[in-house]
Amino acid sequence: MTGGATVHRVTTVAHGSTRLLHRLLEGRDSSCLTHLELLPPRPGVTVDWPAWTPPELRAAFAAQGIPAPWAHQAAAADHAHAGRHVVVATGTASGKSLAYQLPVLSALLADPRATALYLAPTKALAADQLRCLAELAPAGVRPSCYDGDTPREQRDWARQHSRFVLTNPDMIGRGILPRHESWSMFLRRLTYVVVDECHAYRGVFGSHVAHVLRRLRRLAARYGRDPVFVLASATAGQPGTTAARLIGADVHEVTEDASPRGGLAFALWEPPLLPPTDTPWHAVTDADADGPTDTGADGPAGYAPGAHPVRRSALREAADLLADAVAGGVRTLAFVRSRRGAEAVATLARDALAQTADGLEHRVAAYRSGYLPEERRELERGLLDGSLVGLATTTALELGIDLTGLDAVIMTGYPGRLASMWQQAGRAGRRGRDAVCVLVARDDPLDTYLVHHPDTLFGRPVEACVLDPANPHVLGPHLAAAAAELPLKPADLALFGGAPAEAALAELVAAGVVRRRPSGWYWTGDARPDVDLRGAGGAPVTVVETGTGRLLGTVDAGSSHFLVHPGAVYVHQGASYVVDDLDPTDAVALVHAEDPPWTTHPRDSSALSVGSVRSYVDAGPVGLFLGEVEVTARVTGYQRRKRPTGEVIDTRPLDLPTRRLNTVAVWWTVSAPGLDRAGVDPGDIPGALHAAEHAAIGLLPLVATCDRWDIGGISTAMHPDTGAATVFVYDGHPGGAGFAERAFHAAGDWLRATRDVIAACGCAAGCPSCVQSPKCGNGNAPLSKDGAVKVLDLVLDALEGN
Ligand SMILES: [Zn+2]
Ligand SMILES: [Zn+2]
Repeated sequence: MTGGATVHRVTTVAHGSTRLLHRLLEGRDSSCLTHLELLPPRPGVTVDWPAWTPPELRAAFAAQGIPAPWAHQAAAADHAHAGRHVVVATGTASGKSLAYQLPVLSALLADPRATALYLAPTKALAADQLRCLAELAPAGVRPSCYDGDTPREQRDWARQHSRFVLTNPDMIGRGILPRHESWSMFLRRLTYVVVDECHAYRGVFGSHVAHVLRRLRRLAARYGRDPVFVLASATAGQPGTTAARLIGADVHEVTEDASPRGGLAFALWEPPLLPPTDTPWHAVTDADADGPTDTGADGPAGYAPGAHPVRRSALREAADLLADAVAGGVRTLAFVRSRRGAEAVATLARDALAQTADGLEHRVAAYRSGYLPEERRELERGLLDGSLVGLATTTALELGIDLTGLDAVIMTGYPGRLASMWQQAGRAGRRGRDAVCVLVARDDPLDTYLVHHPDTLFGRPVEACVLDPANPHVLGPHLAAAAAELPLKPADLALFGGAPAEAALAELVAAGVVRRRPSGWYWTGDARPDVDLRGAGGAPVTVVETGTGRLLGTVDAGSSHFLVHPGAVYVHQGASYVVDDLDPTDAVALVHAEDPPWTTHPRDSSALSVGSVRSYVDAGPVGLFLGEVEVTARVTGYQRRKRPTGEVIDTRPLDLPTRRLNTVAVWWTVSAPGLDRAGVDPGDIPGALHAAEHAAIGLLPLVATCDRWDIGGISTAMHPDTGAATVFVYDGHPGGAGFAERAFHAAGDWLRATRDVIAACGCAAGCPSCVQSPKCGNGNAPLSKDGAVKVLDLVLDALEGN
């Protein structure tokens, strides 16, 4: 069903999920519904408990209301019991926990000395598992958490007495492996390692975790153990291959989900065009971004006022949908990309509900990663007990806590990857109930493309997680750490990747970090090497209210210059604060309560230098390159804009330090005669390149498993290192995460889609659906939409003729 489908027609389908959808969309402009995908309900398939299941475990599961396992749980448990590494990759709420609890607890019962480790990407998830195991685990297992929140005495107790230790990769790498002698009893009996939510280990973080697990396997082997790994993943492409890359050994995969599912009505929704008289720039735009890596020229800064916002903002649309859902008693989660966006959606929904009375405005709240654990738990409780009906959330919920009984999910924009989209959609309709999901398109090139090409969402397999353990920025530090734990032997190198490991060790030797002896590599330093797995550039910044000393929350280091610079308006649970001071050294931002009649929008400037070229294509007037670059970026100031018109009040300077990023970029150059022949006006060249860069960043997720927040870009009419007009697109992670490399190899498809999106856009001179970027640090100027099409035609002709 495409364009112009009426919401009324939907109701004629006898299907619980479409009835729910109708309740949500009733009275709205039906032309906004660009597609409706109906996913039929699926019955569950149970099987008998594996014959080896101990009777006391059967009884324990039965006491929890589980009379028999789903087929996928039993299949995964059988692999593990037989000593085969296994990953179970099935949908949200399909009972993946039982797939590892069954073999692990059976083994701990059978051998009263055996031990097991459980790794979660977050402390909250480990705590949640502990609650579960406390009810399930047989006496003598003594499950215990061991992480940064565990008090010292309890840590010692866990190390000495617990046979099932729940922790995270950071703690393994920093707390357990470097002190392996004191863990020797535990490691000598290590039977299983559970890696939960392993899809979280992707990109650079995933590459780090891959090496922590290799270090763990190496040390376990020295203590005579080869533990079986049981991994649990959300639905992902090629989970066995990814899991094998993660642990460094072959892994069997179980992907057939046998749990029951209700029907799902999945709507693609494009917000309506605003009437021309109604287009003064509104304060709430989709540009309220705080992506993980705001490194480059295109940091979150918002659109220039006066730009032509043709569509209603996705945030407003989502807020209205959320308010209607709450008014109709439909339990709903609205996923919003950014923290500020989540706050804005909750506030707008509350405002809308306050106007219709009934006190319903108190049943909507925001939930995001910067909140304190107590606050988050209270919100989770509220949603479970029904005192809250609607929650606007960042993707924090993707990891962890088991929320059940939700009727609807609203996505404010495509979450960047199909795997994330299905994870978010999976939050609705648990326990086999019918549910709805509405994807509200943001005003950007990718979302616009997707809601008009539903096959790219519903007809494609879910992406595989990308991780690259060979990244030298990751490999080197872990080899140093491994050598400090126990000298590395030549036979160890295969586990760490062979030749790249040897090269990285040679560098460590040259740097004097390790010494090569005939028997292996020895750590020579005094202090132990310390590897920050989340390496996004330091500790999160703590936000503190000056007068009261109250801790409001945290902001990750990479975003702090954009979100909590001095003068920034910072919103927390609907309350507005103004930042007095940001101390990057101590990672503290001081704020006071104030609700000024303006919003703040950071500006930044950045530069890029080419380190080396890895690969290139020489295509006459056009060159395509892949290589190492250094990006330096600084937030230079911020604009204050009046609410709600968006009129610029002034621009104020900031004195913040420069940040450096060594990474991998893809870039293309265009010669001056080429540009001339393509008919690009000399004065138009900067705008044409800038516009092409924005759209190319927006479309990169089509060919690489990243989203636009993982990457940055810089364009210039003359770059000193290339001697030509150049557009750079780079990975926002130190050492690169493989995105630029994918872009280089798929440049034809990538730039073709980019060119087509710009050319097909109905706007006059560029809009957020084509060439404007929500992250632009230059206020989206200059931009030349026509010039961008000419440049891309030239590049594509040259590359295709090559
Ligand atoms: Zn446009
Ligand atoms: Zn820009």
